[in-house]
Amino acid sequence: MRNPLGVHALVFTGGTAPDQVRFAAEQAAAAGYDLLELALLDPFGVDVGAARTAVETAGIAVTGSLGLSPATDVSSEDPDTVAAGEQLLQRALDVVAELGGRHLCGVLYSAMGKYLSPATARGRANAVGVVQRLADRAADHGVHVSLEIVNRYETNLLNTAQQGLAFLDEVDRQAVGLHLDTYHMNIEESSMDGAVVAAGDRLGYVHIGESHRGYLGSGSVDFAPFWRALAMIGYNGPVTFESFSSAVVDPVLSNQLGVWRNLWDDSAHLARHAHAVMTTGLESGARAAGRVG
Ligand code: MN
Repeated sequence: MRNPLGVHALVFTGGTAPDQVRFAAEQAAAAGYDLLELALLDPFGVDVGAARTAVETAGIAVTGSLGLSPATDVSSEDPDTVAAGEQLLQRALDVVAELGGRHLCGVLYSAMGKYLSPATARGRANAVGVVQRLADRAADHGVHVSLEIVNRYETNLLNTAQQGLAFLDEVDRQAVGLHLDTYHMNIEESSMDGAVVAAGDRLGYVHIGESHRGYLGSGSVDFAPFWRALAMIGYNGPVTFESFSSAVVDPVLSNQLGVWRNLWDDSAHLARHAHAVMTTGLESGARAAGRVG
């Protein structure tokens, strides 16, 4: 079974206003993608009716992703901050479900940014509790939640797949899995394939990004073992391209991610190129793993 191929909306547009969602959906479909990943940093501000019309018209599926902020950090020790984060996550989940989506992913357990101290035991316990309740709501909606493992400059909680698996053991809910991203793995993991094999059937979502988050193949990520490992574990979930450039800016997300450089200007070309690279990569990985077909 072929993996659904996706593309992050920030390849095309810097927001979730109706005309932006429509443009991104049209562009993603034109480049051959099966799904569009919307950044739901402000799920309360999404016009769900207009977004649903846009994606249905374009004939494309939707997933949602987000990273929390310091004001909504569910790994905080402050109960009000944790409650604000939980409300935001629940709304993001509802938006995904209302758009007909099956996946919510990203940094759902922590603020996304550079921490200046380690996570505390109480903060971690708060994050586990919120993710458990989010998982229960997700199961009711038929949505799968995936926790993105990100590098040390974007969270202090889950920087490696192994840390993510230990966290999932604590959460202990079927509706929650791991979300691996080659950009972050390239910084933190000891091996690109080892992390995937360790995740196994708990891998729920994949981001494909280069070391500088630009064109695939123009950076230093070693993709071959990653593609092979996906085939080895029989991963059949979404594989979504993520890339950022100063050419397309979200006033909040781009700054959180440190998008200070221009790595491309032509979104349409970038998207078509990535689709071809990912298709070839998945096919090569299946051959290398002896799973052609
Ligand atoms: Mn990512």
